[in-house]
Amino acid sequence: MAASKTPVMQQHAEAKSAHPDAVLFFRLGDFYEMFGDDAVLCAEVLDLTLTSRNKGKPDEIPMAGVPHHAAHGYIGRLLAAGHKVAICEQMADPKTTKGIVPRAVVRVITPGTTTHDDHLTLRENNWLAALEVDTEHVGVAFFDLSTGELSLGRVSSVAGALGELARVRPREVLVGMGNTLANSAEVNTAVRLAVAGALVSLDPPLDAAELARLLPEAPARPVHPRIATLAAARAVRFARACNPSAEVTPLRTTHWEPSDTLLIDPTAQAHLELVTASSGDARLTLLGTIDMTCSAGGSRLLRRRLLSPLTDVSQIRRRLDMVEVFVIHSALRDGLRRELAKVTDIERLSVRATFGEATPRELGKLRDGLLAAKAAVALLGELEDPALKETLETHGPIDTLDDLTHELARALVERPPAQPKEGAVFQTGYDAELSELQSLCQSGAQHMVELETRLRSNVDIPTLKVRFTRVFGWYIEVGRPHVRRVPETWQRKQTVASGERYTLPELEELAEKIETAEERHRLRERELLNALLDRVKAHGQRLSSLATLLSRWDCAAALAEVAHRHDYVRPDINASQVLDIEDGRHPVVERWAASGRFVPNDVKLEVDAQRLWIITGPNMAGKSTLLRQTALITILGQMGSYVPARRASIGVVDRVLSRVGASDNLARGESTFMVEMRETAEILAYATQRSLVILDEIGRGTSTFDGLAIAWAVAEHLARVVRSRTLFATHYHEMTALGADSHIANYSVSARELAGDIVFLHRLVSGPASQSHGVAVAKLAGLPQTVLARAHELLADFERHDGKLPAPHPPRAQPAVPCQLSLFQPANLSSAEKRVIEILQALDIDELSPREALTLVADLKHRLLP
Ligand code: ADP
Repeated sequence: MAASKTPVMQQHAEAKSAHPDAVLFFRLGDFYEMFGDDAVLCAEVLDLTLTSRNKGKPDEIPMAGVPHHAAHGYIGRLLAAGHKVAICEQMADPKTTKGIVPRAVVRVITPGTTTHDDHLTLRENNWLAALEVDTEHVGVAFFDLSTGELSLGRVSSVAGALGELARVRPREVLVGMGNTLANSAEVNTAVRLAVAGALVSLDPPLDAAELARLLPEAPARPVHPRIATLAAARAVRFARACNPSAEVTPLRTTHWEPSDTLLIDPTAQAHLELVTASSGDARLTLLGTIDMTCSAGGSRLLRRRLLSPLTDVSQIRRRLDMVEVFVIHSALRDGLRRELAKVTDIERLSVRATFGEATPRELGKLRDGLLAAKAAVALLGELEDPALKETLETHGPIDTLDDLTHELARALVERPPAQPKEGAVFQTGYDAELSELQSLCQSGAQHMVELETRLRSNVDIPTLKVRFTRVFGWYIEVGRPHVRRVPETWQRKQTVASGERYTLPELEELAEKIETAEERHRLRERELLNALLDRVKAHGQRLSSLATLLSRWDCAAALAEVAHRHDYVRPDINASQVLDIEDGRHPVVERWAASGRFVPNDVKLEVDAQRLWIITGPNMAGKSTLLRQTALITILGQMGSYVPARRASIGVVDRVLSRVGASDNLARGESTFMVEMRETAEILAYATQRSLVILDEIGRGTSTFDGLAIAWAVAEHLARVVRSRTLFATHYHEMTALGADSHIANYSVSARELAGDIVFLHRLVSGPASQSHGVAVAKLAGLPQTVLARAHELLADFERHDGKLPAPHPPRAQPAVPCQLSLFQPANLSSAEKRVIEILQALDIDELSPREALTLVADLKHRLLP
């Protein structure tokens, strides 16, 4: 079979065998073709028509193709579906090559290494992660090839590494196969579960010599623990292997320690809706609420800061100082933001230039971005005050790459075309040779016009035309009625419906001249373009530094804009163990759900005094909102932002841990209660005296007494053993008895009942809730009048009997409640029936998802009718 392969298919087979795990895009003329299994896969994922090559022959093979100019759209879809793509190009011009055109794989594009705009999200980094595991530590590196940023660090466990992955959400993860590590396959599986949607693969071992070659500066920088450096080297090695023809190097390397960042566990990250909302509406996230950045780089930085707030007081204060400058100097902020809006994505554009991939249009954008950057720098440079200059990092001279900007401005036309072949990339006069070739092309065309005029008068055919088509080149066209007047010496080229086409030695000579001029023009243009790309490439590091500075300003100015528009205040960040918020607000709820009528509240948690607050109050009163806003204000403060409050003093927190409501992990086959307990167990395992814990309604997944007992014990443990700052919302009124402990305080969110209707005041007051208002909330929710009336009656009964179940009263005729279900007749009930009643009593129907409701009905049925 192999012997019967044509040379081209032989080339294909070789390329494919070198890249078995990638979809091979094989260039054939103007198309990329896929063959065999690749073709079948692409037909399915990309909706292409599946055809076959060598149909009916023994070597028939499935085939599908895409036009080369539209390839990136298709590649993006393959990446999104978790595939890699190997690009096999023609390495010579088929027109000038004798025999078969040589082909080679020039690049492998993977989700974590792509640099093409079509495959990237403008406002998010595109991380490739690498893990290096030994018996004691895990090295973790994140490399964004599209911006050149590399960040590396070391954590003490696989769980810690998974936490980092969940936070950063890389698109691709390499799990290192080390010599000391037998369980890389296990880690691999764990990673797959932790970062859903990412492409995860095992990465072969790496030796010391390779390390030295990949990161030559590594030994000189002992600040990086070796295991972290190894992880980074893996990421770089992988990115290089994917891009054999480009110089892949990190442009900016940062090193982190787990203790530098405020850890936000994945559960908290999800339910605080930091960057993704459960509703899917990005505006309803914290990021959506505070991202007023003007540039892509600024927006990426803001997102990173939000997901990795700091713990170092002085570092946070430095960030806040910068925000403050822009809060105070509003004209400066406005001016800067105007310039920053014109700053294009310098980071990514310069990397694309480094890869030799930037189009003339992108080079034009880079030039425009650099000009705007210069204007922004000039604006801040006008400041006199040395302290301000210091804060804005403008005290030293800032390199705005004037040399490169000047070169780009001199070279390129105002709006260069997307594709180099369109010509008209360079300004006239930029390059003498190019100008000469251009005038040659133009004068050639002029000569053709002159030839046409001359021929017309020579043979006296006024409708004679000299024309050009791509297929036939230049020719003379004469309409049928005049054909007889054509001299014998003219050579007939083609007959068409309307007449005849001819050629002449003189015409051919001229055509040849024009064609060579055009070809030379194209080559020269390509040459100049490559030279320009090389210039940009040489300044990658400088461009990256400038971009970093611009992003920092953008971030700070955006946070100042948010503070100004929405009345945020600078928090006092300190090393105390007190969290003291006066008139705090929920940044998202105040903007949307409760716009214009948000009720602010105070919270004060002190490790040395009242460190745990028990919060009671009816459903819908605002308990979860209060819990979440407290966590959000802490996170905002520690990322270096102003906060929605009248005053806030934040003793830095090391972790934010939370457990709120029922998660929908039913899909994983675990009961709600099991999930709840697992999450609670994790909180108890990880919380420290420096942590902020928010717990909402734990224990509701089980029977009342079990639930109460568990909630009680958890609260006691947090208050007495862990000593974290904790907010604990509960519907177990009994828990307010814990208020006797000097470290525990009772608060409630108030509501009033007026003639059976409930009015939520959303105001937090000291002391336990007086009433539960459950029946009033039920009315609000639209429970039928008959049910409400009966509930009122029962409630009055319970209250008369001091919370104990009343004796059953004899059934009486009651038209309003025609069918009384006598639920409370313990004497007649089986134990299964009692258990069902208990479950129903503990149930909060509002909190049930349809899926949970179904599972519950099945469970109840099973209990009663096994
Ligand atoms: P709970 O947890 O007590 O059931 P939530 O915190 O879910 O109550 O709040 C219910 C609704 O009440 C929220 O969606 C919000 O619209 C509104 N709300 C909550 N807190 C406030 C507040 N402080 N000011 C105004 N509206 C609020």
